Amino acid sequence: MGRGPAAVTHPPGHPQSVNTGEMMAKALVVDDSRAVRMILARTLKELGFEVREAANGREALEVIETEKTAVSLVLADWNMPEINGLELLKRLRQKPELSSLVVVMVTTETELDQMAAALEAGANEYVMKPFTKDILVEKLQLVGIHP
Ligand SMILES: [Mg+2]
Repeated sequence: MGRGPAAVTHPPGHPQSVNTGEMMAKALVVDDSRAVRMILARTLKELGFEVREAANGREALEVIETEKTAVSLVLADWNMPEINGLELLKRLRQKPELSSLVVVMVTTETELDQMAAALEAGANEYVMKPFTKDILVEKLQLVGIHP
């Protein structure tokens, strides 16, 4: 059949290119505490990140599945239902396509002795709760992220 009326050309929709110039880095905050997620998300947004949130490791893996390599930083709590922080970390490290993903474990003082296991499993850094924006920036700089 013939072609329809003259095609109106629309530029392809690329919502991610709305921010011309610098690309906004995407961070994923994983914590079963909604309050902690809110605090972390707010801090990361202040630092210029686009933020995704997940309430446990299973949700985090779903977000990663959707976002693929768009997420460059994961901040993960340790104790969470379904899939905890360490298990999440291990599963992320099994994905070769995510080799440049930075994972920072967020821990409480009582879990500090478990951080050796997290570092061994491939965590880039850990940060202890409660922490300030300055401490978070410092930790991110340690892993090569300069917000
Ligand atoms: Mg927790």
